Amino acid sequence: MFKVAIVGRPNVGKSTLFNTLIGERKAIVEKTPGITRDIIEGYAELEDKKGILLIDTGGINWGGKDFFNKTIIELVDKTLAEADLVLLVVDAKEGLTSEDLITAEYLRKKDKKVILVVNKVEGKEDEERAIEFYKLGFENIVFISAKNQKNIAQLKDLIKKYAKDHLEEIPEIEVIKIAIIGRPNVGKSTLLNRLLGYERMIVSEIPGTTRDCVDVFLTLPDGRKYLLIDTPGIRRRTKIDKRAEKFSVDKALETIKKVDIVLFMITAEEGITNQDQRLLRQIQKNYKACILLVNKWDLFDTKREAGNLMLENIKYGIRFISWVPILTISAKTGRRVNQIFPLIEEVYQQYNKRVNTALVNKILEDLKKNYTFNVKGKRIKFYYATQVEVKPPTFVIFININPDEIPKHIEKFMENSFRKFLEFNKVPVKVVFRLRD
Ligand code: GDP
Ligand code: GDP
Repeated sequence: MFKVAIVGRPNVGKSTLFNTLIGERKAIVEKTPGITRDIIEGYAELEDKKGILLIDTGGINWGGKDFFNKTIIELVDKTLAEADLVLLVVDAKEGLTSEDLITAEYLRKKDKKVILVVNKVEGKEDEERAIEFYKLGFENIVFISAKNQKNIAQLKDLIKKYAKDHLEEIPEIEVIKIAIIGRPNVGKSTLLNRLLGYERMIVSEIPGTTRDCVDVFLTLPDGRKYLLIDTPGIRRRTKIDKRAEKFSVDKALETIKKVDIVLFMITAEEGITNQDQRLLRQIQKNYKACILLVNKWDLFDTKREAGNLMLENIKYGIRFISWVPILTISAKTGRRVNQIFPLIEEVYQQYNKRVNTALVNKILEDLKKNYTFNVKGKRIKFYYATQVEVKPPTFVIFININPDEIPKHIEKFMENSFRKFLEFNKVPVKVVFRLRD
């Protein structure tokens, strides 16, 4: 695939440009493992489903102090060797700097094809200052605002001119969006650290997300990709003053809405609290998949009876959302932590499952044989049903009365029946009634 590297000193807007060009975050594919210098790659679509591979070198300080450091030079050389084209990004608001000159010279020595991208051009003053950049001596120069999406099309056209016949089909990548939610001190960061160590995952924080909460890409050794949403910055995490961490139900709710599967964490000490129940109800309302992680189970290692009792209590506490699978773990000792990802896979497989219409109707027929339902003395007729959606699995049932008149308990009964007979036992199922004309 045609590879395009984005280079430039810090803060000129490389990550913003990267995100603008790849459009949807889900396209991000890979990062080179490295503790402090992330290199993130993603596909940018230039014409219908076809595109190039974009490399964001956001973590390298181009032209800066450590640019001449041996490891950095090796990394830079390697990245540039792979690139067919380089976008050198500069900042019109700052104007030309010595670092820009150093990087330009470096690229020329490497004999790289370069497009000079002057970013943050948003007004007359910026335009005037931008003219200085002609001094860098590059033939191809575009003036853009990555933030305001200005002249992006022009930049894409220019890239296309270079990539020409090398545009390739962009592979579809399936990414499971997850988040760990739980009150302070339940063990979220302990778990995260353990997961990162254990699973030998490739981790990359998504640039452009907020400082204290980032989205993180996890790539498991088997290639499976997860997007961990709203994660307190992993590297910064250790510095967070725990006393300052406040739990916001609103924030948690916002996160819940963004993910496929919520990893809801509680502790074996406290079990389910009222606040947990409130959030679980929201998970139910939003038809999100969920796994209940009961952490600190090591506290019950030698107290089997008490453990069983606690588990019963927890099950009772979540009875309104009883399909949620429960996993007792110890983030501290690592017990059963290795079962988390296989369980996520199983849950996601159900959440994303399609059942053929014949089977759905066979279940509906069986239900009709065994039960009758009346609304205001009128018999409800269920004509037929079909699955219309995944994530969540959603079924439409055609009926003979106004759907608004269907009582909640009948809706729940149908949801539970489909869940049971169509093997959706670990996920929510949604049923929608529709009047057949
Ligand atoms: P990087 O360090 O080169 O990856 O730069 P970032 O993409 O992180 O951007 C650095 C800062 O510049 C952020 O505050 C961005 O919001 C801002 N920025 C990026 N692009 C533009 C732009 O086109 N116009 C303006 N005004 N700000 C921008
Ligand atoms: P967070 O606020 O949810 O990120 O929680 P932390 O990961 O900071 O953990 C809070 C406290 O619980 C720390 O003192 C941890 O050492 C402790 N802790 C975390 N996991 C476990 C566990 O599995 N068992 C026990 N006994 N303690 C744990």
